[in-house]
Amino acid sequence: MTDHATLLWLPDALRDAGLAVAELHGWKLNQQGYYWTDEDDTHDRYQGDPVGWMWHHTATSGFTPYVKNAKGQSKANLFMGLARGNRLYQEGGGEPTVVFASGGPGNFTAGAGKRYVMRDLVARDRRFIGPQHQADDVPSWYGNRYYGSTETVHLGDGSLMHPGVWDMQLQVAVLLSEHFGWSAWRHIGHLDHTKRKVDPRVAQGAPYTIGHMQDQVEALLSGPEAFMGWTMKEGDGVGRPLNCIRWAQAALNGFRAQHPSGSRDPIAVTGVFGPETTAAVTDYQRGAQFNRLGEWDNGDPDDDNDNGDWGQIDAMTAVYIGRFHPEADHTPPGTVTPHGSNMHTAAYALAPHGPKSHTEDYAAKDHAASHTIV
Ligand SMILES: [Zn+2]
Repeated sequence: MTDHATLLWLPDALRDAGLAVAELHGWKLNQQGYYWTDEDDTHDRYQGDPVGWMWHHTATSGFTPYVKNAKGQSKANLFMGLARGNRLYQEGGGEPTVVFASGGPGNFTAGAGKRYVMRDLVARDRRFIGPQHQADDVPSWYGNRYYGSTETVHLGDGSLMHPGVWDMQLQVAVLLSEHFGWSAWRHIGHLDHTKRKVDPRVAQGAPYTIGHMQDQVEALLSGPEAFMGWTMKEGDGVGRPLNCIRWAQAALNGFRAQHPSGSRDPIAVTGVFGPETTAAVTDYQRGAQFNRLGEWDNGDPDDDNDNGDWGQIDAMTAVYIGRFHPEADHTPPGTVTPHGSNMHTAAYALAPHGPKSHTEDYAAKDHAASHTIV
């Protein structure tokens, strides 16, 4: 059998990003004679790419990843969750882990749904604001061969997804978008494809979780370079959420995750600079012994009273997404150097992230023998 080629780069990219990865034996092989199909229904056998990516929850609190089930069917390209032994869990400990189960389309993943979402919106990098309310296409049209898929272990009851697993989802989404040249709108939820489904549904952004995830992916894809020189303060973004604010909020969450304390929960990534963002900016600036608190300064080198907050963002963001930006991986602990005339040494050490390796074996759910991770 021939390998599916389109995702072969991804495991190493994830390891380079510092994520834990497991590869089930046989995940690269074309399992059912399925192949990726583009929006015009043309395909080039195993060389095709998916049109977009569909995010699911398993509706379970534990799950054993598998290449094929007892019926010989594959369900998802990737499974995610907290790894303990050969299973993934929603909570209870374990390292956030990406498990590779298939390099090709699953044959029962997206299922029946609306073709126009794939063809007219996702494939054209246009945002679909869901969820889907229309009945599935008749005769049935199936999304399986068009969408890559991730099943994240979660009950789908609107409760919090483990922050490390959520963070991992964002990183995988950004890596996929960067590799394929996709906007954030290529990532859709199962509930956008068909009104029969509600997934993904977790506390982050519930009830329309995928919209929140898209916002965060968009902010992370945009990068801070576009916003250097912007000064932001409370009230900005009201009525017109701004990507520069989303970026700052995402970066602040990276800082807060890396330096937790009692009150440093994640803030909402909304693009609107409200009281919560002011408090988070102030908290960060106070710790870094900056002069001015509460406003996000522009880093003007001619302004001695300027914090140069934008100069810090790369280092702050390195904590959050820098694991797949190699230049950020080498930031020495404790030496965050801002641009501008004020040279601050931030009070925070940035922990370097290195590749991790995994050696656990994942037992196949429906096979007597366990698969060895290659
Ligand atoms: Zn689903």
